Amino acid sequence: AAKDAGRGVSRFYAADLHAAVEERAELEQDLREAIAKGEFQLFYQPVVFAANEKIVGFEALMRWHHPKRGWISPSKFVPIAEDTGLIDRIGQWVLRTACEDLARWPRSVRCAVNVSALQFANPDLPNIVANALAHSGVAPSRLELEITESVFLNDNAGTDAMFKALKRVGVRLALDDFGTGYSSLGYLKKAPFDKIKIDRSFVQGATEEGSRNGAIIASITSLAEALHMDTTAEGVETLDELELVRLLGCSHVQGHIYFKPMSAAEAALLVAGDLVAEAEGPQSVRAKR
Ligand code: C2E
Ligand code: MG
Ligand code: MG
Ligand code: MG
Repeated sequence: AAKDAGRGVSRFYAADLHAAVEERAELEQDLREAIAKGEFQLFYQPVVFAANEKIVGFEALMRWHHPKRGWISPSKFVPIAEDTGLIDRIGQWVLRTACEDLARWPRSVRCAVNVSALQFANPDLPNIVANALAHSGVAPSRLELEITESVFLNDNAGTDAMFKALKRVGVRLALDDFGTGYSSLGYLKKAPFDKIKIDRSFVQGATEEGSRNGAIIASITSLAEALHMDTTAEGVETLDELELVRLLGCSHVQGHIYFKPMSAAEAALLVAGDLVAEAEGPQSVRAKR
């Protein structure tokens, strides 16, 4: 019986694996046509300045509306786009679209765009960025590129040259998901980052007793301050987390406590006129306390 059960289990896994392989092949195929079919959309999550709770900008987050499978998360399709080499074309679409949306918003509003390590390794990236800016007439300083530590995995002369070239274009640079990868202080020394984004995994649980996360966040913010870099706390969900990250010196906050990612149309409404002045989340939460 044990043997039968064992065989049953392996049959089950084989079926599972088969389904996964088929799904992957189908997604790969569909991803090739997704731009032309207009299936991608950028959502925008507001970034709030901690000191006055004003919205200073957005992070563009890509979504794929698959005709059969519905909304697919970037954590699922970005790796496929990277494996298939489609990421450059998709990344170019993201930069173009974000700049076009940015052109419609008040000049005080910035936008951050995620750039994968593979895009970063493409020597043409500075041209692609400069073209997206020129095409939309947006000032380079309003665009921020978010890069993860993985770009340093193949750290070489090309990496340094890329940082210099992007700075020459005039965009801001942010180090995304800081602390989750191959963190090295050496990167902070040589790369011209304007901002460090503290990963959600440090924010989560930071308010629990005995957590070491608070000490880590505090050391990142003091380091960033000394290096004249901003810090964004990612994924802040509760009022306790918000109060803590502000106390620990994070200059910016992003998370569901304030806003979830929203459509470009909703983002435009939010930053139109007086609405740009105040984020609503915590005020309403506070009022309820
Ligand atoms: P990321 O750049 O670290 O983006 C932050 C992620 O945290 C987003 O997930 C966002 O929706 C989520 N988030 C924000 N606030 C909260 C919160 O309070 N609670 C929780 N639970 N989550 C929160 P999303 O949109 O699913 O994106 C996942 C990742 O996919 C991004 O992580 C980024 O690495 C990648 N990605 C998204 N858009 C693009 C893109 O246009 N290009 C590239 N190359 N990668 C992208
Ligand atoms: Mg990001
Ligand atoms: Mg992040
Ligand atoms: Mg992340």
